[in-house]
Amino acid sequence: MAQSAPSTTDAPAVGVEEVPKLVTRIREEYETGRTHHAPWRKEQLEGIKTLLAEREDELLAALAADLGKPPIEGWATDLGYVVSEIDYMLRHLDRWMKPERVATPLFQRPARAAIHREPLGVALVIGPWNYPVQLVLLPLAGAVAAGNCAVIKPSEVSANVSALLARIVPEYLDRDCIAVVEGGVPETQALLGERFDHIFYTGNGTVARVVMEAAAQHLTPVTLELGGKSPVIVDRHANLEVAARRIAWGKYLNSGQTCVAPDYVLVDAPVEEPLVEHIREAVRSFYGPDPRRSPDYGRIVNGRHFDRLTTLLGSGTVAFGGETDAAERYIAPTVLRDVKPEDPVMQEEIFGPILPVLTVPDVDAAIHFVNERDKPLALYVFSEQSSVTERVVERTSSGGVCVNATLYHLTLPSLPFGGVGPSGMGAYHGRATFETFSHRKSVLVKSTRFDPKVAYPPYTALKKKLMRRFL
Ligand code: NAD
Repeated sequence: MAQSAPSTTDAPAVGVEEVPKLVTRIREEYETGRTHHAPWRKEQLEGIKTLLAEREDELLAALAADLGKPPIEGWATDLGYVVSEIDYMLRHLDRWMKPERVATPLFQRPARAAIHREPLGVALVIGPWNYPVQLVLLPLAGAVAAGNCAVIKPSEVSANVSALLARIVPEYLDRDCIAVVEGGVPETQALLGERFDHIFYTGNGTVARVVMEAAAQHLTPVTLELGGKSPVIVDRHANLEVAARRIAWGKYLNSGQTCVAPDYVLVDAPVEEPLVEHIREAVRSFYGPDPRRSPDYGRIVNGRHFDRLTTLLGSGTVAFGGETDAAERYIAPTVLRDVKPEDPVMQEEIFGPILPVLTVPDVDAAIHFVNERDKPLALYVFSEQSSVTERVVERTSSGGVCVNATLYHLTLPSLPFGGVGPSGMGAYHGRATFETFSHRKSVLVKSTRFDPKVAYPPYTALKKKLMRRFL
């Protein structure tokens, strides 16, 4: 059932010239203060859940049209994940909203000190195309859980999902406080010209710079969820069969179009051959002898990315895979060997189903290789020796680490998810999603019953002594 403000007609599309009016109208609504209250926040969260339940078929169809996403993957990674995060928010929201009492030093007493989580105001959420439902609706859930109004801008690249969200979001959520703006660069630029109280951007580092520059004009804080080349280190003491399966799963899910997909493998030279063989077997067991026919294997989002990826197939030699079909935007799950660090495939985030495997003499060389490059969003290490995995965790920097697995660290609400340096700033998931859209306001409430004169001028010798002792 639809929540507040059910619609009988489609919400009108918002053009570039309407953007300033839209943001002003939403800000005026925010100023009424009604979004601050817990019932409004919970109603919106329930509204997102209801939207995901009632429009599941349409959403999965749009994901299939945009990315060839298998329905179960679409459900798990785009829809179900948002529902589980919202359930977590709903369980904890009352507690998160309570002022957090903190200690008051002796010289300030009698007084009470507390941290209040207050909404920031009107948030802007700009999403990418690879998980196009999750990556706008989860930040939106965080924004409303924290009592904000929000404008969301889905990616124009995943056009079917974008159009669907624009149509259905107003049916389930408070349309005076939450709006969807569709479009590409001009619409995003128009939005970035307005003053927001937080901008939550997920996408690539080049556009992140545009976003941050625009945000600077209004001193608007930003969360930047970016990407980069997430390495996998495979030590000679790894369980190679399990490692191969987990690497293959994390890499070929969504045809490699995942921000934390293993980008490349650094493997101890003596175990390169068996590792590649195990990855080949894992791919065969997942998708059969011809992945093109597998209902569980996706497609590349558009022709531009398809062309970019097929060029990268020229690096090193193809160990297996390498088949492509432009008409279907199909690229087979591929492993490349004999790749050199200078090769094109090692110069940019791959973001597709191509996995270069590079050999290193030992784990220290792998650590050095990682540390010479941009800090990654995720880092994976496979070894049965904790001395090895601990050394890698200790001596490298990345948004997050998963030991003996890939991707799974994202799914814990207890672990904030975000990058560091070029892979992003800020984090969300679990409580961090709520915190990202909240201001931690310090509130000190003093009593007037007791007003010692010691802090007031004139500063006598005795007062100076007391101040030095107690302040
Ligand atoms: P994209 O092309 O869909 O762009 C993202 C958003 O930026 C879109 O809404 C788009 O309209 C807008 N945009 C594009 N060009 C713009 C411009 N010049 N000015 C203003 N806005 C503009 O998606 P993408 O960037 O190709 O997404 C892929 C990248 O996102 C990868 O690097 C991936 O690793 C990263 N990513 C990160 C996460 C994460 O959670 N950290 C998740 C998914 C994707």
